[in-house]
Amino acid sequence: MGKTIAIFNQKGGVGKTTTCVNLAAALGAKGKKTLLVDVDPQGNSTSGVGLDKAEIEYSTYDILINRVPARGIMQETEFKNLFILPANMNLAGAELELAESEERFFALKKAISPLALEFDFIIIDCPPSLGLLSLNALTASDTLIVPLQCEYYALEGLSQLLSTVRTVKQLYNEHLELEGVVFTMYDIRLKLNQQVIDEVNKYFPNKAYKTMIPRSVKLAEAPSFGKPVIYYEKYCKASFAYKKLADEIIKKQ
Ligand code: ATP
Ligand code: MG
Repeated sequence: MGKTIAIFNQKGGVGKTTTCVNLAAALGAKGKKTLLVDVDPQGNSTSGVGLDKAEIEYSTYDILINRVPARGIMQETEFKNLFILPANMNLAGAELELAESEERFFALKKAISPLALEFDFIIIDCPPSLGLLSLNALTASDTLIVPLQCEYYALEGLSQLLSTVRTVKQLYNEHLELEGVVFTMYDIRLKLNQQVIDEVNKYFPNKAYKTMIPRSVKLAEAPSFGKPVIYYEKYCKASFAYKKLADEIIKKQ
């Protein structure tokens, strides 16, 4: 049985998608069969692994709303051991439509659980909100990873995030656990970073990964080529970091 991990933080632009795409690719490169699930209408994970959002016929919208089997919309990427359930703007309508459905909290879980047997890891990219799409992702997951940008405002919203996780645990998914916290866009030259790190270690004792993701131009460039960074620039510090992060996660599998 594979492990399903939601990459979740309701704060925008903290590196969720970058972590999803690059962690999933690194897990795949290390021989772990990995499924990336895009649950964000922005579809950035989808384009990040080389798919053209405009040309996607079926997306996670169809598995959530039209009950199309996940297997039917799954696509193989050009990268080793990496598969995706893609998303595009269509998914924006799903929040409202789900709200009227009886299965509003469990639609994603129902859709992807048959695939858990086939994959070592399922990595879910969440939108920057606490809405039904994110709740579906948390309900469908075994654990979550919280990416935190190393900046002063990183801690803002953290109590809201934790309270959402508690609610999901109480009502929809009692097994949900925090897998870890990953610092993104780390810049060793900034003193502020260290303060944030100390503070987070207080909030989440022993949950921060040793590996921190450095700020890297290569990471920002890679999506425009539709490639995870390890396939875009194999020997840069960002590629090294995501491979190390994958090692830490595999060790706990
Ligand atoms: P959203 O909340 O909108 O979904 P997100 O949390 O998924 O955003 P990303 O899209 O991964 O965040 O990253 C936001 C921006 O920061 C992107 O332009 C991305 O390329 C850039 N970025 C992310 N991580 C890094 C990094 N380590 N170094 C440099 N740029 C980064
Ligand atoms: Mg994103």
